[in-house]
Amino acid sequence: MLARRPDTGLADYAEAIEKDPALTLRLLSLANSSFYSRGSFESLSCREAVPRLGLETTLAVVMSFALARGEFQGLDRFWQRAIIAALAARHLAGRLCPEEAGTLFTAALLQDIGILALLALNETDYTRISTSSEGHDALVAAEHDLYGCDHAAIGAWLSDRWGLPGHLVRGIASSHGTPDSAAPAALCLRLSGPIADAWLSDSPARALFRLLHRFETLSEVLPVSLASLLEEVQQSLPDMAKLLDVDAPPLYDNQSLLAEAQQHLYRHALSLSARLDAQEADLKALQLRQTELELSARCDDLTGLASRAWLEAQLEQRFRLCSEQGRTLSVVFIDLDHFKRLNDRYGHMVGDRVLETFAAVLQAAVREGDLAARYGGEEFVVVLPDERAEGAMAMAARLSQALARRPMAHVEGEPIHVSVSIGIACFDDAEFCSARELIDAADQSMYRVKRGGRGGTAMFGAER
Ligand code: GH3
Ligand code: MG
Ligand code: MG
Repeated sequence: MLARRPDTGLADYAEAIEKDPALTLRLLSLANSSFYSRGSFESLSCREAVPRLGLETTLAVVMSFALARGEFQGLDRFWQRAIIAALAARHLAGRLCPEEAGTLFTAALLQDIGILALLALNETDYTRISTSSEGHDALVAAEHDLYGCDHAAIGAWLSDRWGLPGHLVRGIASSHGTPDSAAPAALCLRLSGPIADAWLSDSPARALFRLLHRFETLSEVLPVSLASLLEEVQQSLPDMAKLLDVDAPPLYDNQSLLAEAQQHLYRHALSLSARLDAQEADLKALQLRQTELELSARCDDLTGLASRAWLEAQLEQRFRLCSEQGRTLSVVFIDLDHFKRLNDRYGHMVGDRVLETFAAVLQAAVREGDLAARYGGEEFVVVLPDERAEGAMAMAARLSQALARRPMAHVEGEPIHVSVSIGIACFDDAEFCSARELIDAADQSMYRVKRGGRGGTAMFGAER
């Protein structure tokens, strides 16, 4: 292969590539895409396209093209993972180490080429371990058992033999391992794989919840929101897939996916504390009920928030935990003001859009581990575990500030703002006998705000 010879220059690549019409076409279309052409004239030949793309991108496209023509099973998924990882790494690098964004894109794209080598070596064996390993980490462990090293080491060795630049080789070599103490470039790479895995997972929300957790624990070194990252990957994905001739990976409604991931996080916190206290029987009953509910109606269709039924089931369980362990929780009841009027004036469709946007703003105002649900038409309830009324007040304040800043929709260019009436009840405020009573108390407080003229927050037990 050309790349192996140290004296190979861009012109040699161009010459070799020109012999392959399909590949030529691909490179030309990439070179002419807005990302690379920066307003200059169309590339007419490979000799012009290759310098414009640069050596690394050309190599990546050529290698993906050559390797993608293998006959192995599951290859589409392999390249889907590579593309998503590459886009994710580029986005992360854009925030952490912008000067390395291009390199990290290519390194992430090629980080798993070792897998192709192992497949070529012994397809039966490798397919067996890859189908029986659940997740990338398990696959890496199985590789160590079988070969004494993993595909990152093999990919790095291979790309070194191919004469790829040293930073790419090192990138591939460092693509595994925990992101926690890694330098910025390695951090981007090590997160890119798990992000792609979450994207391609059978239950993406569940996988995203782990990522959310990871982003949270890395927040000091990783000032990136998962939502913006997913958004950007989503936008570039179809073009990238077309370019590398791979079936487009699925696109998601990221907002509701993230909302769902938050719910998983909540449940995780709940089952963790339940387990800590060895309430196995309770936990089993809870899980059973959750599975039943999961199948029917865990999520609200319009907003992607938790459904009323799911929230009530969770809250009941949480309530019991508080009674038995002397812990606390707060319930926040939120009702949009004059929503009927808004519907009447702008129509039901606009009303629906307002509810959707509102749900996203609400979701952004709650913390990990809180549970936000659509309780009825324009009523929402949030459960804040281990939080007293002051914590709930802070959440209500965040929400109200966000609503003042952000319009919920635009009609003919005019921004539509909404206000809300919020009622808060905390487990410690009174001798509540059930979760129901707690919701009712928050509802009553909310009605006090309505009677007082709307647009405000009231705490249960603070009435005069
Ligand atoms: P208040 O300030 O007292 O809360 O007044 P309101 O108009 O918000 O409250 P009301 O309960 O009188 O009206 C709620 C309205 O919400 C009536 C109903 O048509 C509307 N609504 C309920 N669900 C939906 C929905 O899914 N989509 C839309 N567009 N409207 C809905
Ligand atoms: Mg209302
Ligand atoms: Mg109402």
